[in-house]
Amino acid sequence: MAARIMIVEDEPAIQQMIAINIKQAGYEAICAGSAEVAIDVINNILPDLILVDWMLPNMSGLEFARRLRKHSRTQRVPIIMLTARSDESDKISGLDVGADDYVTKPFSPRELIARIKAVLRRRAPEALDESVEVDGLLFDPVNHRISVGNTEIVLGPTEHRLLYFLMTHIDRVFSRAQLLDRVWGDHVFVEERTVDVHIRRLRKALENVGKENLIRTVRGAGYRFSANSAVDSGELKL
Ligand code: CA
Repeated sequence: MAARIMIVEDEPAIQQMIAINIKQAGYEAICAGSAEVAIDVINNILPDLILVDWMLPNMSGLEFARRLRKHSRTQRVPIIMLTARSDESDKISGLDVGADDYVTKPFSPRELIARIKAVLRRRAPEALDESVEVDGLLFDPVNHRISVGNTEIVLGPTEHRLLYFLMTHIDRVFSRAQLLDRVWGDHVFVEERTVDVHIRRLRKALENVGKENLIRTVRGAGYRFSANSAVDSGELKL
């Protein structure tokens, strides 16, 4: 369940240096040499985080970040801007368009990885592979162990990813399209009812430990993972 990090950088040596360090940190690296190429890739696969160089040929990193923030599908993807500029005003315009953080070149690989980790912790906790517990259900992604007390649950790979995503985003409603993007990484070639099939399998597996009610169907909206039975009416209360 390694986080997918996209690197949008036109200088091959820097792109490669970043990619090597990202892979060493246990993440998956996807490289693009321009914003245009990055947009093509993102239209198929949504990354967990995007590193964007400010100075790119044609479309600038700033304009690219602005476009990502404008579209509903990409507006929540964490963005870190990379730049040689250390001007305070540049930093502010980067953060203004919705970048989550800002790293000034030259930077050490250790610093970059630390920043990536901090942004992921804040914005995409499912990408960090940390243990999580909800209502006695324990998910340990490093040891691939899901358990309640001494009883272990074994899941297929998709249910495994789906459960971890839901457990790291409790009390939030996700539509089928959002789950396809965040769990499958693909909203184009997978049908929405595929989500229902895997939710059904996951509930069946959770039944064995009496935890199937943690997954709520929110009518007309999607699914929510929640330990709080007080709000379980099938309807979203605002
Ligand atoms: Ca550049």
